[in-house]
Amino acid sequence: MRREHSPGSARIRAAVLSLLVIGIVAWCAPAALAAGKGEPGRLSATRVELQDTQADLELFRALDLDVDGLFDGWARVYLLDEEAETLRSLGYEVSVLWQEPVQKPVASAEPLPWTGEGFSSIPASYHTYASLTSELQAIAAANPSLVRLVSIGQSVQGRELWMVKITDNPDVEEDEPEVSFIAAMHGDEVVGKELLVGLTNYLVDGYGTDMRVTDLVDDYEIWLMPSMNPDGTELGQRYNAGGFDLNRSFPDWFEDAVNTPDGRPLETGLMMAWTAAQSITLSANMHGGALLAQYPWDNNPTHSSVFSPTADPAQDAFYSVSLTYASNNPPMYNGSFPNGVTNGAEWYAISGGMQDWNYAWYGNFQLTLELSNSKWPSANQLPTFWNENLESMLAFLERGGEGLRGLVTDAATGSPVAAEIYLDADPFPVYTDPDVGDYHRVVLPGTYSMRVEAEGYMPQTIPVSISSGAAARYDVQMGPVVTDLQPISVRIIDGMFFKYHLTPGDTVDLAVTLKNEGGTATSVSGRLIPTGCDGEILRADATYPDIPNQGSASSRAPSYEIHVDPSVPLGRKVGFAVGWSADQGAAVSEPFFLDVGAPVCQDSAATDVPKAILDNQLVTSELPIPDNFTVETIEVTVDISHTYIGDLSVKLYSPAGTPVTLHNRTDGGANDIVGTYGVDLQPADSLSIFAGEQAQGTWTLAINDYGNGDTGTLNSWSLEICAPPPAGLPEMRLREVRSEQSGVRLHWWPYPALDSYKVYRATDPSSPAQFVDVTGEDNDDTDTSFLDTTPLPLAYYLITGVGPQGEGP
Ligand SMILES: [Zn+2]
Repeated sequence: MRREHSPGSARIRAAVLSLLVIGIVAWCAPAALAAGKGEPGRLSATRVELQDTQADLELFRALDLDVDGLFDGWARVYLLDEEAETLRSLGYEVSVLWQEPVQKPVASAEPLPWTGEGFSSIPASYHTYASLTSELQAIAAANPSLVRLVSIGQSVQGRELWMVKITDNPDVEEDEPEVSFIAAMHGDEVVGKELLVGLTNYLVDGYGTDMRVTDLVDDYEIWLMPSMNPDGTELGQRYNAGGFDLNRSFPDWFEDAVNTPDGRPLETGLMMAWTAAQSITLSANMHGGALLAQYPWDNNPTHSSVFSPTADPAQDAFYSVSLTYASNNPPMYNGSFPNGVTNGAEWYAISGGMQDWNYAWYGNFQLTLELSNSKWPSANQLPTFWNENLESMLAFLERGGEGLRGLVTDAATGSPVAAEIYLDADPFPVYTDPDVGDYHRVVLPGTYSMRVEAEGYMPQTIPVSISSGAAARYDVQMGPVVTDLQPISVRIIDGMFFKYHLTPGDTVDLAVTLKNEGGTATSVSGRLIPTGCDGEILRADATYPDIPNQGSASSRAPSYEIHVDPSVPLGRKVGFAVGWSADQGAAVSEPFFLDVGAPVCQDSAATDVPKAILDNQLVTSELPIPDNFTVETIEVTVDISHTYIGDLSVKLYSPAGTPVTLHNRTDGGANDIVGTYGVDLQPADSLSIFAGEQAQGTWTLAINDYGNGDTGTLNSWSLEICAPPPAGLPEMRLREVRSEQSGVRLHWWPYPALDSYKVYRATDPSSPAQFVDVTGEDNDDTDTSFLDTTPLPLAYYLITGVGPQGEGP
C-alpha cells in the first residue's frame, strides 16, 4: 500500500502539503503504516450483541475491530473470521449480517438515461463505474460553461476518482464559498453515489430556469464526488482494494496529529492532496447503514464514546447545519436519533475519520451523513431516497453562504493574503483561499470577536455582527509586521563534541538568539521549524524575553531540543527556521544551518621549552603548525610556574598576528598558571577571536614580566585546534505547496551558497530517469518558488540546488 518514498532524498510528493500547519510534532516522521483488513472476501458485517456498551467498545478498540454502527443493544462490526471467533470465545453473541463482498441487491444493469424531466425520480438502477464515468463525461461535455470533470487520481485498481466541479466561470477562482459532497468512501454504501449523480443533473439542467439552482451555481463553487472508493463499490465491499477502511485512515487530531499522506491508503492520500489544494467551507461525507447527520468530533483524547463537541461558536454551527440536513429529511428527522442528529463520538468514537481531519487541519466544516438503513438497498427505492434528500442537499449547500465572509488583502498592494480567521476563543481557524483572499465561515447570528492572523502581517481583532440570511461581509486589509526577528547565533548545549556543530546521533538543546530588526516585540515565543528531514524535534517551543528594537535575546532554558538521526551523513547542513509570534505579529525567520560532522582536531606542543621568565623581560615560544585548515575552536594548555603571577601578561599570537590575551596581571604569589584556557582556565579575551583564521604557520606565546623580584619558568604549552566539519549541503525541502489560479506553486527554503535551483517532475518516481527537468517553465530559477502550470493529480518533484561546485545533491 505504501507508495515509494526514499528516505533522505529530496523527492517531495505534491501531496505533502501545508508543512507549516500547526501540529507538526515530529521531524518528517512517517505515519505508521495503516493496518488493512486482509484479503477481500474474508470479512463479514456482523451483529454483535452488547453487554456493557462502553466497556465493549473499549475492548473492540483494543482488539482493533472496525465498528461501523451502534444501535439499540448491538453494534455492527466488520470482522474477519478469526476476529469473530475471538469475540465468541469472549462470550459475545455474534451473528453474520452479510459477507463481503456484498451480494448486490440489483444486478448492475446500465442505468436508464436521465430524462431531465421533473427530477422527481432517478433511474431505478445503480451506476457501474463505467456508466458513471460515461455519464459524468457526457454532462461535462454538454455543459462546458458550468461543469469541469476532474480526476483527483486513480484508485488502487486504476479507476479514476471523479470530482465534478459545478459553478459559473468554472476556470476562474472567485470570491465564493466552496461546498462539497463526497459519497461512497465505503464501497458498499452506495445511495449517496446515486444522489450525487442526480444532483449533478439537477443543478446542470435547472441552471437558468430554476432560480434557486441558478443562484447556487452562480454564487457557490460546488464539488460533487459520487464515488471516492470505486474499487470497493465494483468489488461490492466496504474497504478499498487494498483492504483499508478509508474512513479510519486519515490523520487523527487526537492520536496521530501529523498531517502527512505517508503510509496511508492511496485514495486517502489523493483526497488529502485534493482537499489541501481547495478551500472548502462546508461539506458532507455520505454513508449508509443508519439514518442520521453527525458532526465532529468523532474522537477525543481518551477515545471514549461520549459527547465530544468542538469549541463554540463552531459547535453551534455544526449542530445547526446538521439539523438543516436532517430536518428536511423526514425519515432521518423522525428516526432513532433526536432530530436525526448526533455528535460523532457520542454515537461511537472512531479514529482517523475524514470529517475530523477536514475540520482540524483545513477549517472545513464537514458532516458525516448516514442516508439509508440498508447500505445497498434495492434500486427501486432510489427515487424515494432522491425525494427525501433533495431539499436537504440544497438547503445544506446554501448554508455555506451564510455566516461570515470577506476578503483579506495586503493593504499596500491589494494582493490576496493567506490568513487564518479565528472567532472568539475557538482555537481552530478557517483559512482564506490564498488565490483570491476570500474566507467563509459558517456561524450562527450573534456578535463575535474575529482575529485575523497572517504570516508577515500585524494581526487584527475586529468585532463582527452576524445576522441570519446571507453572510455578513467583513473585508480586512492587512499591514506588515514591523517587528522582524531573525536568528543571529545558536548555542549547542550538551552536544557530544562541540558548541558549534552537531554530530550524528546527538541529542542537544539549541539556544537560539533572535535579533529584532524592526519594532518592539513583547510576549515572544518561538517554534523551531526544520527545513529538512534529519532527525526529531524533541522540544519545538521556547519562550523569549521581550526584545526591543535592535536588541537581541536568547531562547529561555530549557529552550529547543533536537535529536539528530545517527544516519545523517557527515557534512550535511541541518537547517531550522524560527516561527515566532509576539503581541505585534507572527512570522517565520530566515533559516539558519548547523553543520553535522565529527570534530577534526590537532594537538601540537611547543618544543622550544622550558624557558626562563626573567624580571621585566619578554619571553616568547614558537609553535609551528604545518597543516592548512580553518580554525573553528582552539584550546591553550599552559604550565607556567612563577613566584608572583600578578606580574605576568600572557598572550597568544596567531600566524596572522592576531593577539589574544590569556592572562593579564591578575592573581598573586599563591598560584602558578597550570591548566587549559577554554576548559578550566578563563582567558582574558575570548579565544573565539581566532575562529575563521588559518591554522597553518607559527603560533607564538609571549610572556611579559612586569615586576622585580619574582621569576619563573614556561615549562610547556600546547594547542588543540579544531577545524569545522567538511562543508556540506543541506537537504532541500518544500516549505509549502498550494494551488493557485494558474497552477500549483511550490515554495522551498532558501539555502546558503546556492546560485539557482532546478526542478524535476515525475508521475512515477521509481527511477531517476522518470524525472523530467521542468526548470525552464518558470522564468526565475534563482528565487525559491516554482509555478507548475500543468500540474498532474499526483506529481513528485525533485528540487536541487546549483552552487559553485555544480548541481547537487
Ligand atoms: Zn460508512
